[in-house]
Amino acid sequence: MLRKIRIAIALIMLSLLSFYFIDFAGIAPVETKLLTKIQLVPALLALNIGAIIILLLLTFLFGRVYCSVICPLGIWQDVAEFISGLFKRKRKYKFLPTRNLLRYGILGAVTLAFFLGFTFLLSLLEPYSIFGRIASNIFRPLYQEGNNLLTTILGWFNNYKLYMVEITIRSIFSFIIAGISLLIISFMGYRYGRLYCNTICPVGSLLGFLSKYSLFKVRIDKNKCNSCGVCATKCKASCINSKDHQVDYSRCVTCFNCLESCKKDAISYDWSLKTAANEKGPNSGRRSFMAVTGAGLITIPLAKAKNTAALLNGKKAFKRKQPLSPPGSVSAEHLLSHCTACHLCVSRCPSHVLKPAFTEYGLGGIMQPMMSFEEGFCNYDCTVCSQTCPNGAILPLTKEEKHLTQTGRVVFTLENCIVYSYDTDCGACSEHCPTQAVTMKPYKDGLTIPTVDPDICVGCGGCEYVCPAEPFKAINVEGNAVQLEAKPIKEEKEKDIKVEDFGF
Ligand code: SF4
Ligand code: SF4
Repeated sequence: MLRKIRIAIALIMLSLLSFYFIDFAGIAPVETKLLTKIQLVPALLALNIGAIIILLLLTFLFGRVYCSVICPLGIWQDVAEFISGLFKRKRKYKFLPTRNLLRYGILGAVTLAFFLGFTFLLSLLEPYSIFGRIASNIFRPLYQEGNNLLTTILGWFNNYKLYMVEITIRSIFSFIIAGISLLIISFMGYRYGRLYCNTICPVGSLLGFLSKYSLFKVRIDKNKCNSCGVCATKCKASCINSKDHQVDYSRCVTCFNCLESCKKDAISYDWSLKTAANEKGPNSGRRSFMAVTGAGLITIPLAKAKNTAALLNGKKAFKRKQPLSPPGSVSAEHLLSHCTACHLCVSRCPSHVLKPAFTEYGLGGIMQPMMSFEEGFCNYDCTVCSQTCPNGAILPLTKEEKHLTQTGRVVFTLENCIVYSYDTDCGACSEHCPTQAVTMKPYKDGLTIPTVDPDICVGCGGCEYVCPAEPFKAINVEGNAVQLEAKPIKEEKEKDIKVEDFGF
């Protein structure tokens, strides 16, 4: 019974969390966000004291239930393990000696690197973030592909309830990392049960250490046990030493598989005040990827030639010195010290302006979110990412606060502007600027040309995104290392319009 309850809760948890990540239409209930907040590392980074206390209490009471019903990556490994059971009905685990040096070594290295400001290691190994990247980069495009297929099929029957969505891969680098993680984790789950959780996962090692002292535990009654070893063959954590009637509680993930396996009724999950010392025991993604790679091979040399020609013609390339972190992330430093690159914000950003960084923030910030204006710009009234982040890496902003949060400042390059180069009319940048940081001033022959006021710019990138100048944009946004307060928009004074008397 306990096992069935655990499986039911775990499946609900996995389904809701996955849906929250892949939900492009924004129909997931807002309460789902709570599930991201009770993930251990996000709760620690956001200093979410309530969640931390609940998770610690759960562990001290019931052992590693976090790993069996809360952590989506743990549950995903159970899914892989279940699938392997379908193919290999007589699969058997066996007791393995613990690899404490490796697991606590990794935990120590991740913690040390984090406090030295190198968060990449934590982002790479932390289970919730790994799952987030897999869901955002792999499951989401697959879900969108399924949606498009269903839309086409329904269209044949004149049913237009669904709509087509564009399938995009936000960053090839993150896509590759997510794909490799998915393969490795699924393979480990398929072949070796919870090996990842008990050798590599820093959260598993930390909770494993604490769960040695938990109140409720899987216990073997020596008087009933005949050391047949059936329980050990069912233990996906390979932590039951049936010969010595011992369970390694630091590795037990409370899956309860062993409870139902014992014919002698010698295993139970109950409580005792004895401490551990007394009980010490031993498609579409692929197609897009191929398309992007193939297109890259052809277009990169062409683009390079175009850029060189443009430079020779007096145009200027803009190189951003500082990436733009999402509004509410306070500063690049704050983002880097709180973000574990779960990509929830990237996945839920409706304007597609967030994408995982490569080395823009430096090596320590690989895969962390930054604003990129190739496929969109930051909607002036949108606060989704700031309301979404469970880690406190992007702090909540109201619409009014966001309107004054300056993530970067506009930079205009006259030589690239098509009004200057071709004596033609434009002004797209000014039309798209929500703050009037770009306005048009008289130029010549009745034309107007942009003029910028960086103080009231919020760095949304609307101007950069729409600027038609090629190959170099004429207007760009330089990031702020620390987000500043933009000056409020100047209200246009209503002109007194004097209505002339018509005189009759
Ligand atoms: S100048 Fe550009 S980046 Fe700045 S607020 Fe206007 S559109 Fe946004
Ligand atoms: S959109 Fe670009 S090309 Fe057009 S006016 Fe603005 S800066 Fe110049």
